[in-house]
Amino acid sequence: YDFTADDLQDHGEIGRGAFGAVNKMVHKITNRVMAVKRLRSTVDEREQKQLLMDLEVVMKSNDCPYIVRFYGALFKEGECWICMELMDTSLDKFYKFVFEKMKSRIPETILAKITLATVKALNYLKKKLNIIHRDVKPSNILLDKRGDIKLCDFGISGKLVDSIARTRDAGCRPYMAPERIDPGRARGYDVRSDVWSLGITLMEVATGEFPYPRWGSVFEQLQLVVQGEPPRLQPHHQLQPAIVHFVNTCLIKDETVRPNYDQLLEDPFIKGIDQSRGEVAAYVCEVLAAMESNGVSPFTMDQPAQAWID
Ligand code: ADP
Ligand code: MG
Repeated sequence: YDFTADDLQDHGEIGRGAFGAVNKMVHKITNRVMAVKRLRSTVDEREQKQLLMDLEVVMKSNDCPYIVRFYGALFKEGECWICMELMDTSLDKFYKFVFEKMKSRIPETILAKITLATVKALNYLKKKLNIIHRDVKPSNILLDKRGDIKLCDFGISGKLVDSIARTRDAGCRPYMAPERIDPGRARGYDVRSDVWSLGITLMEVATGEFPYPRWGSVFEQLQLVVQGEPPRLQPHHQLQPAIVHFVNTCLIKDETVRPNYDQLLEDPFIKGIDQSRGEVAAYVCEVLAAMESNGVSPFTMDQPAQAWID
């Protein structure tokens, strides 16, 4: 349906990314609660039209249970507002709380369900809408108390912000596959680059740490991805062979050998696992309750560390 910024009541910021803030808002007429992503946007009117047409495609993703519902977009005073379903937390805040504050780890059965949901979402985007995500990382995997696991932030954000901002963001935390950093190696973008990012993401949430060292300049970081051995789960992480194998196949450096989604869906780590939401719901509720009693907001556990990138 159609609505304008005036129809929305602001309930404050819930998160902040490289390009802008995400606010909780309520659509006053229907009482629908939304997450509204506000991007600084310098596009002109003609580009706006094109973007809104692209968004029509994204709207079609509303029938996949593993993708955040999308309500619409509008332009307001140099900003583009992307309105979507509000979830309870994102996987980056979630895993940090589990490791740092609860001194615990996410159970592997839950990790398998998160992985399966993410692979199904990525596969749906590719097969049904011909979209490659391009920004798979923990903060773009959202969770809620009902046990839903949903992917967000694909498709359009990239076109809204200028390329300088995008390169800065890329350096912030290299989830990017080697062939994307060093384009001489590959012909353009492929779903397999998202498979690499999924491997990095899964390693991070399984171990509680980003798998590349955080020292060094952006250039050195990216060089390590291109020239170094791919990161590997180690025995001291004490994870089961199934997840170790899954991560290893996602992080095959040669993208021509790296699996696609159909192959990943056959992997024993996620093949045939039960997708009912009960177990995830119980676990997410437990962690969110612990966050609440710690006085931590499920959205704003900490702000992204940006200081070191320059
Ligand atoms: P990034 O994904 O790089 O962290 P974003 O601007 O996309 O930056 O999002 C900022 C934060 O807002 C995310 O880390 C997440 O915690 C939160 N967020 C984004 N979209 C939603 C949503 N639909 N529901 C709940 N929280 C969200
Ligand atoms: Mg995001």
